[in-house]
This record gives sequence, structure tokens and C-alpha cells, in this order.
Amino acid sequence: MPSLESLRFTNRFTRELPGDPEPHNARRQVRQACWSGVSPTPVAAPRLVAHAREVADLLDIEVTPENEQAFAEIFSGNRLLAGMEPFAMCYGGHQFGHWAGQLGDGRAINLGEVVNGRGEHWTLQLKGAGPTPYSRTADGLAVLRSSIREFLCSEAMHHLGVPTTRALSIVTTGESVVRDMFYDGHPRAEPGAVVCRVAPSFTRFGNFQIFTARQEIDQLRTLVDFTLRTDFPHLLPKAGQPSTEAYAAMFDEICQRTATMIVHWMRVGFVHGVMNTDNMSILGLTIDYGPYGWLENVDPDWTPNTTDAQGRRYRFVAQPQIGHWNLLQLANALVPVVGDPKPLETGLDAYVDRFQSGYRRMMADKLGIGLHDGLNAATGDDPLVADLWPLLAEANIDMTLFFRSLATIRGDSATPDDHASLLAAVSSGFYESEAGAAVDRAPVGEWLARYQARIHEEGVPDSVRGPRMNAVNPLYVPRNYLAQLAIDKAEAGDFTLVREMLEVSRRPYTEQPGREAFAAKRPEWARHRAGCSMLSCSS
Ligand code: AMP
Ligand code: MG
Repeated sequence: MPSLESLRFTNRFTRELPGDPEPHNARRQVRQACWSGVSPTPVAAPRLVAHAREVADLLDIEVTPENEQAFAEIFSGNRLLAGMEPFAMCYGGHQFGHWAGQLGDGRAINLGEVVNGRGEHWTLQLKGAGPTPYSRTADGLAVLRSSIREFLCSEAMHHLGVPTTRALSIVTTGESVVRDMFYDGHPRAEPGAVVCRVAPSFTRFGNFQIFTARQEIDQLRTLVDFTLRTDFPHLLPKAGQPSTEAYAAMFDEICQRTATMIVHWMRVGFVHGVMNTDNMSILGLTIDYGPYGWLENVDPDWTPNTTDAQGRRYRFVAQPQIGHWNLLQLANALVPVVGDPKPLETGLDAYVDRFQSGYRRMMADKLGIGLHDGLNAATGDDPLVADLWPLLAEANIDMTLFFRSLATIRGDSATPDDHASLLAAVSSGFYESEAGAAVDRAPVGEWLARYQARIHEEGVPDSVRGPRMNAVNPLYVPRNYLAQLAIDKAEAGDFTLVREMLEVSRRPYTEQPGREAFAAKRPEWARHRAGCSMLSCSS
């Protein structure tokens, strides 16, 4: 196993793309450049909280008791390795539907890009390592609370099979950072932390948008060609220059990857919370874990983001349409290079079809049913699926537990169960109503009877259907309140729950004896507690 010093840096982003000639780390508008060189700000006392060994494996490195302190120094930004050329990216974006101009890596500093023994390229990015030219009015720092949320959730998403950026490590800085968590005039000092994120590339829709908005078309073309070469090399014509066809194929693949990512979000009950175009990866990776959340009781209109509480633009059920809207903004940004908008429109239309067919397939898999011949002609929906969501919302039931327990409904037996026994099979997921009274569960019982009839009719043996369903319906997701419990302990200096949540998240589809608490539905105390139900962007 090579040492930390043997990471091999390729740094294609900074070597092949135009940089900002201004070397000073001062907030400013950066023109005609994809990046600015900037060093991480040294921190007082870096200490490793946790690391993901699977991500270390991707980089061909290993964290051992001997190199742990050196690792913490490097991945807090205190020490640069030979070959690291730290930089922040310039990008813009639409925030909550409005063009916001230059945003950029305000609290992210890329250490560089490495290539591993399998020829894979990975960019290492510190989040919370100090200000950059893109920090605007903010400090470039991150707190332990939000860093734990990003670290745990991005790794959990990976193990759930959801495309995502990865997290190598989380390090506390030994310094405190003042945050007003809800922007309500109650600032407090919190422990600072740095997460090292890892992805094949961190390019966002907004990296292209900023050039088009500024009419910097040469730079736009350079970035588009670079992206084609480095992130979509399989689409580059064998001989010769990038063509309109290659650009269109790249956009089409971005649409496809975005559709796939959002189908997965809907499958596991993930709500991103800030789907601004600067938070959309061109590789279709979930990126920028801020005020995200997990659906607990099924509520299609839920958004975890306090900033979004009024408009609910980024609510669970709206995510597919927002994906489309964001792709439309990307298409607009690419027109000056592609020339003809037609092939981009084709890609956008294909997004809608791909999302819908992917969603239908995903829901059928969650229910363990085949796609029905009698689909609703207008919507293409299977009535069993279409009827389910409103029913679950009404029933105040936990999404994860409901779908997981469906696999226990028997389809083999010729005699149907009565409603009471069917309801007993899913009863662990029911929450009480606001008033503490039980919700009418009869409609769920009726639906379960229809469901049992359907699986009986389809005839797939329970022994086959059950495991298949359990492979797409997770038992363990990093529930909002669990992450908050891990944060509470960590702020008191105890990182055991962070590490245990990471461990549990490695096998989200497999029952882990002794870890029942990690699958439990949200307790009553967490319903309105800050951090468990709603978060602000600064989270
Ligand atoms: P977000 O919506 O959280 O992805 O952030 C939008 C923009 O604000 C991005 O350009 C971020 O880099 C920047 N930003 C967020 N928090 C901070 C911070 N604490 N310091 C500097 N920039 C920040
Ligand atoms: Mg962002």
C-alpha cells in the first residue's frame, strides 16, 4: 500500500483550463477564467474524526495509526503534498429560480486531481478550508454539524446505490466558527471542521452558465471541449475535433444521468433541499449536502430547507421537474457552442421519457410487481402505484419502514389475509397524528389487500420476491434525527456515533442484529427539533 506521499497528481483542470492571473486571495469578480489559485487556511489543531476506507481505497492510500496525524494535517489543508495545486472554481447559478451571477467555490478548495492504479481520475476537494475569491460575504468555513451531515450522508448515499460525490474524511480544526443556524439573531460558536470530498469531477451546470452570462464564449468552448475530453471521453469522435453531434451526445448523457439520479432520490426518500443550478453536477452526482433531509412520514410536499419553506420549490415531489428546469438552463448555456438548439431540445424531451420510465420501473421494483398491462393510458401509471402515494401521505406512515415491511406480505398462499393482519405487517411505520390520535388506517388495509391479490396473481414466489424487494427498499437510511444525535455527541467530543452510523450505512439493505435503533422511525421528540426537521442553507 503506497504512502500518502505517493498520490499521483495530474491536475488537468488547472493545467488545461484558463486560470485567474490575480494571485491574491481577495473576494472579487473573476473574469475569463475557470479557476483561481488559492491555498487552504492553516488550522490550529487538526484531528481526524472519521474516514471512509472505501474512498481511501479508491485513492490507493491507507490510513493507519502511524500516519493518522499526517493525514489529518493534509486533509485539513495544513500541509500540501508535492503535486497539489490548490484552486477554487468559478461558477454561477440560478438560486431558487433566479440568476444569481458569480457564486463559485466559496468554501471549497480543490487540492488537485489524482490518478489511481486503475487509471481512474479523482479530484480531492476540501470543504471549509478557508476563504477564496468566491467567498463573497462569508467566511469559507464549515462547522462540525454540517460536516458530519455531509460526510455521513454522502457515504450512505453511495452504499444505497445513489450516484454521489464521496467523502474521504472529516477532520476537526480545533477552532471555533460562529454560526447563526436559523438566521434569527442567535449566533453561537461551534467547532470547525473540514470534509475532504472526492469525485471524478466537480464541474457543475453553473460552470458553463457563468461564461454564457458574461458572453465569454471562447472560455465556454474551452470548458465544454475539456469536459467532453475528460468527463465524457467515450463520446469524443475517434479522430478529429469535437462536433455538434458529440456536444449533443454529452448533453443527452447529462440529462440521462440526472434522470437516473433523481429516480434514485425518489426511491430512497431523499430531498436535496437546494437544487440550484450551481449544485447540479454534470456527472449526475448528488452534490452539496446542505439542508437536505430524508422523508420520514410520507409527505410529498416536504422540504427540509427553511429558506424554501414558503415557496417549497425544492419539495420532494417537485425534484423531477426541477431537474428538468435546471437542465433547460444548462441547455441555454450550451447553445453558443452547440450552435443548433434542436439536439438540446431532443435531450430535454428524452429526460422526461427517461425519468418516467425509470420511475415506473423503480416503483414496480419497490413493490416487487411486474409492470401491469392495464397501465393508465393517460399517465402510464400502474393504478396500484398511483393510488399508493396519496394514501401513504394521508396515513402518516414512515416511508422507509412501509416499503421495507411490504416484503413480509405473503403472495404464495391462496387464502388472502384479513385487513387487520395485513396492517399488522406494516404497523411499525405508523406515526400518530398531530393531536396524538390514531389515523384511520382502513384505506391502507384496503390497498394492502389489493396488493396481496396482485402479487398472488403474478405468482412470483415469496422467496424470490422478498429478497429482490429488500435489495431496493433500504432498512437503514441516515435519518435526520440520527444524524443529529451523532452531532450532539460529537460536539461533546464523542465521535463513536458518527463512526457507528458510517458502519451501519455500509450495508443499508441487510438486517444488522443489535442495530435495530438505527432503523427506528423518528421519535416524537424529534418532530420539531432544530436539525431534525428543518435546516437552513448555512447547515
Ligand atoms: P450553497 O447553496 O450552499 O451551495 O452555496 C451557494 C454559494 O455560497 C456557493 O458559492 C458557496 O460556495 C457559497 N458559500 C456557502 N457557504 C459559505 C461560507 N461559509 N463561506 C463562503 N462561501 C460560502
Ligand atoms: Mg453549492
